[in-house]
Amino acid sequence: MLSIGVDVGGTNIKFGLVDESGGILFQKKTRTDPDRGSSAIIGSIVQEINAMVRQCAVAYRDLKSIGLGVPGTADSANGVVIYAPNLFWKHVAIVPAIQAAFHMPVFIAQDTRAAAWAEYVVGAGQGMRGIAAVTLGTGIGCGMVIDGRIFHGALNTAGEFGHQIVELNGELCNCGRRGCLEAHAGGLAIVREAGKRISGVGELLHKDISSVTVSDVYQLAQQGNAQARNLTDGVVRYIGIGLVNLINLNSLEMIAISGGISNAPAQLLLDPLIAFVRGRAYEAISEKVRICKSKLGEDAPLIGAALLHRAGDRGAPRCKWRSEEKQTVS
Ligand SMILES: [Zn+2]
Repeated sequence: MLSIGVDVGGTNIKFGLVDESGGILFQKKTRTDPDRGSSAIIGSIVQEINAMVRQCAVAYRDLKSIGLGVPGTADSANGVVIYAPNLFWKHVAIVPAIQAAFHMPVFIAQDTRAAAWAEYVVGAGQGMRGIAAVTLGTGIGCGMVIDGRIFHGALNTAGEFGHQIVELNGELCNCGRRGCLEAHAGGLAIVREAGKRISGVGELLHKDISSVTVSDVYQLAQQGNAQARNLTDGVVRYIGIGLVNLINLNSLEMIAISGGISNAPAQLLLDPLIAFVRGRAYEAISEKVRICKSKLGEDAPLIGAALLHRAGDRGAPRCKWRSEEKQTVS
C-alpha cells in the first residue's frame, strides 16, 4: 500500500507518494503563497494530489491515506489547524475539506510531530519507547513520540521546545515573550548576534552584512575567528540547556536533530552538544540517551505525515479546542 504525504510549509508545499517503509517513490513541491488564503491553498492541495496520482498512474484503491504536516498548532482529533502564524491561519478545518474531495482517511499533525513519528516508525528511533525530533532552523521546534504514541498534550501544544526560557529578560522572541531558546539560538538569532559581535563580519566574508548566513558564521568559527567561535559556543550552551531540560522532563532514549543549523560542522555543534548533555543531564539517563543527526532530514515531516495512519489515534480526543468557536475555511 502507498500513502500520500503533504508537508505544508510557509514557503513551499511538498507532496510525496510514500511506501510503508518510508521510501519516497515520487516527490514534488509547489509554492505556498500564503497571501491567497486558506481556501485557495486547500483547493490547490487537492488539485496537486490529483495531478500526482495521475502522473504516477496509481489507482485510488491502492492508496491507504493522505497525511498532512502543518507548521503550527493542529488539533489532530478534529482535523483543524488551530493556529499557524506562517500561513496566517486560525481555526482552519482542512481535514474535512480534503476528506470530502478524496473519500479516504485524512490525518493531520504539526510538522514537528510528523517528523518525530517518521523517526519512530522508519528512522533512528525504531524500537524505542520515547524519542524526540528537534529542528534547529530559523525557528526551533520539537516533536515527541512517547510510549508509542505521538505526544500532543492536552491542549495540543506539547513540545514547544524553542519557547522554553533560557534567559530571564533575554532577547525578544517572535512569540512576544523574552528569553526563549529560539530568540537566543535560532537561525535569526545567530545572524543577529554575528552582526553585533564579530568585528568586520561583512569584510571578513566579502559580502553585505545583511546577507550573512548561519553557515557563514560557522565557517568563520571553523577558520579560527575567536568572536565567531564564542558565538557558536554560546549556541551549544543554549541548545544544550534546552536538550537537558527536554531529556530530564521526558525520559527520552533518542533525539534526532535536523534543520539548517544541524548542518554545522560536528566539532562545533553535535560533538560539544553530546558532551554538554552527558555532563549535565540527570545521571540515570545522561549516558543512555542517544543524540544524533536525523538521516531522514528535511523529508521527515513528509514521510511522517504519509505514515500518520499508523499512529493509531487522532490526537487528544477529549480536547474539543473551543468547539464553540467557529471552525471555518476562510
Ligand atoms: Zn518564544
